[in-house]
Amino acid sequence: MSRYAVIGAGPSGLAAARALQKQGIDVEGFEASHGVGGLWDITNPRSSMYESAHLISSRTTTEFAEFPMRSDVDYPSHAVLLEYFRSYADHFGLTPLFRFDTRVTRLEPQGCGWDLTAMGPDGEQTRWYAGVILANGTLSEPNTPTFAGEFSGEIRHTHFYKSARELDGKRVLIVGAGNSGCDIAVDAVHHAASVDMSVRRGYYFVPRYLFGRPSDTLNQGRPLPARLKQAVDSRVLKAFTGDPVRFGFPKPDYRIYESHPIVNTMVLNHLGQGDLRIRGDVERFDGETVHFRGGGSGDFDLVLLATGYTLDYPFVNRAHLSWHSASPRLFLNIFPASFNGLYVMGMVEASGLGWQGRYEQAELLAAYLDAVENDPGRAQRFRERVTRSPWPDVTGGYRYLALDRMAYYVNKDAYRGAVKAERRTMEAP
Ligand SMILES: Cc1cc2nc3c(=O)[nH]c(=O)nc-3n(C[C@H](O)[C@H](O)[C@H](O)COP(=O)(O)OP(=O)(O)OC[C@H]3O[C@@H](n4cnc5c(N)ncnc54)[C@H](O)[C@@H]3O)c2cc1C
Repeated sequence: MSRYAVIGAGPSGLAAARALQKQGIDVEGFEASHGVGGLWDITNPRSSMYESAHLISSRTTTEFAEFPMRSDVDYPSHAVLLEYFRSYADHFGLTPLFRFDTRVTRLEPQGCGWDLTAMGPDGEQTRWYAGVILANGTLSEPNTPTFAGEFSGEIRHTHFYKSARELDGKRVLIVGAGNSGCDIAVDAVHHAASVDMSVRRGYYFVPRYLFGRPSDTLNQGRPLPARLKQAVDSRVLKAFTGDPVRFGFPKPDYRIYESHPIVNTMVLNHLGQGDLRIRGDVERFDGETVHFRGGGSGDFDLVLLATGYTLDYPFVNRAHLSWHSASPRLFLNIFPASFNGLYVMGMVEASGLGWQGRYEQAELLAAYLDAVENDPGRAQRFRERVTRSPWPDVTGGYRYLALDRMAYYVNKDAYRGAVKAERRTMEAP
């Protein structure tokens, strides 16, 4: 029986270990940090969590279907989620499958598998695996833009932001208004001397609750066509949250859901209260002064870059993952078309995909590896479909913005449908 390695014990790595274990496939895991939970463990050095972070998608749309959370809170905190992943791993006997404090440093093709080199408590060791599953996360490697001029204060990426106390008494400029940027802006208004946000484009702000229910639980399982959903939801949002342009945001030059929506309306409340201010794109730094495009400037002590993350698989040559501009080009974001024995889990971003969506990726992978082990003809037919047929459209009809961070973005319904269909075809007699 072949052995497979999993890199990372976050939600995706745990999902992979669980699905392979269920299929009877031998699996060994490597985790650089001291325990399971991935970035939900704020003490994991790779974690991008901060003390005030809570789930943005609601509990029931996010949890693993076979292991509901014990919490009855709609949007639990990161601490509750860490406990959830620990219980999940313990319940299914996944924890002993992983070596902790062990970082994978290199993958080299060797025969029909891979040599995996890892640095752990016993030093550096290399082992051979029939295949390696990369689940090392997508939100840990900061995307750090450069700016003209010199800033005399502190510039920090939000990856290194942990607690609102770090902002006490400071004049803070947050660059970017994604979900983390908006969460941190809400933290900042209670601690900082002043809070400004620099934005390049407009955003759509979705309230956590609509009609008294978590907004992402509405209309579940009955996806509307893209244009209709865009028309309906932008009307509903206009009725509930009003027009963010009133608060100083630029008008979005794209339709709703063509970029990740911001699930935070508290930031709008604070704008309405005058607790923070929207600024244009940063033009240049000059000492403690920041000049903005389109005019205006301000003096700051701290510039917090809420500028997102880049994909990073530093332990393997990019050619093995078929990189194409900002991301690897993989069948259903999982399989390199070369079928070289590497598989990627969790390299998928979508509104509302949740961990169950990531688990379904793992189920498809487990079904394929089972075929490789026990029914080579079936595995071969899958590989032929992938290499010879057009790949499914997983955009759901949405035209996503041509940005690096959207390079691996999918529509959750289209994506889950395609993954399930592929699995059904694979498992058909
Ligand atoms: C503030 C915040 C809020 C979020 N809210 C939501 C939400 O509401 N809903 C949602 O679905 N998603 C949310 N996310 C997205 C989040 O990324 C996923 O929920 C999930 O954590 C992804 O799991 P993962 O296992 O792919 O990656 P991670 O959780 O990042 O885990 C990767 C693991 O791999 C390990 N690792 C990395 N490199 C190596 C190596 N070389 N060797 C060994 N181990 C390695 C890391 O230590 C880590 O434990 C949020 C993210 C952030 C930052």
